[in-house]
Amino acid sequence: MAFSKKALLPTVNILGTEIHRLSREHLLQLIEERYEEGIPTWIVTANAEMAVRAKEEAEVADVLAKADLRLADGAGIVWAAKQMGSNVPERLPGVEIAEELVAWAAVNNLTIYMLGAGPGVAEEAVLELQTRYPGLRIVGYHHGYFDEKQELDILDDIRKKKPNLLLVALGAPRQEQWIAQHFPSLNTAIAVGVGGSFDVWAGRVKRAPTWMGERGLEWLYRLIKEPRRAKRMLALPRFVWYIKRESR
Ligand code: UDP
Repeated sequence: MAFSKKALLPTVNILGTEIHRLSREHLLQLIEERYEEGIPTWIVTANAEMAVRAKEEAEVADVLAKADLRLADGAGIVWAAKQMGSNVPERLPGVEIAEELVAWAAVNNLTIYMLGAGPGVAEEAVLELQTRYPGLRIVGYHHGYFDEKQELDILDDIRKKKPNLLLVALGAPRQEQWIAQHFPSLNTAIAVGVGGSFDVWAGRVKRAPTWMGERGLEWLYRLIKEPRRAKRMLALPRFVWYIKRESR
């Protein structure tokens, strides 16, 4: 199915956040079309935790609403769409979408800037991506623990280098707030909040085995590996409760 460029994209409302119902193939086709037409694209990959934050905090909802595309990052969103009588074709995990974009940038000779993760991590991620995609043009990177003065320097650096693709790994929803604030003034074609992707590429964090991902258990794997996430994951039962209440 080809998208009509003028047509509205199909969405499903999950606790107030409009999630785009796109397959991976359609997403990449759409991004390419928008890029060729010079339309800037900011992508959010949303999971259950983020949907709960948006439901409970109006500022988070407002920020997410400004993004051009909101994708179903987690199994929770796919499940919720079904409960609401709709469907999203597939999960589009942030780290996989980010890597699809990196691969696309490599093929098309586009430039990339990577902002975020701990000191040293972005650098390791850069090296890993350049090994996976020889010739990849990563024109700049910076870790995500900066003060206000450093932030101004980072913004200058990005403006100077004009990357086609900006990957922002500051954790949700901070990366979304950062992109909402700065994307319009950055002269960058595509921006994506990519959460812990740099840690994964740097080999510091492992993704869940496929069998867990397929059964919607990536969250459980992350909880076991990173117990400090336990408090944040209290959002998951609230997510289920909200969805059950709204889908009745
Ligand atoms: N991070 C950062 N600056 C901060 C806080 C977090 O660069 O002030 C990075 C952190 O090092 C990690 C990423 O943001 O690489 C967040 O990863 P996480 O897996 O927690 O992503 P989330 O699930 O929040 O999207």
